[in-house]
Amino acid sequence: MERCPNCRARLDEAEICRRCGMELGLLLATERAAEHWLRIGIAEFVKDESAAAEQALQRVLSLRRDPLAESLLGLLYQRVSSSSDRLLIDPGTRLVISNFGGRVLISQS
Ligand SMILES: [Zn+2]
Repeated sequence: MERCPNCRARLDEAEICRRCGMELGLLLATERAAEHWLRIGIAEFVKDESAAAEQALQRVLSLRRDPLAESLLGLLYQRVSSSSDRLLIDPGTRLVISNFGGRVLISQS
């Protein structure tokens, strides 16, 4: 967050806007949490941990609108669906069925 969402003043590290006095602590905490989950989502995505990546990226989107998280979720879904017809499932494997942007995603736990 570079500018106050209320008055558009440029922000420093302070949790109160120096121009309009708006309390920014909660907004800044939300932003930090979104960054945190975005980093985790990217790391899990790179490691091919689809379920963990999806969970982290969904958390980002519950905190803020984030084009990168949206794109990664889109790629994740494509990756899963394009490999799904080649997926061999061993007996005894636990499957996770989740709602993935309105579609059903089946993955191995
Ligand atoms: Zn302000």
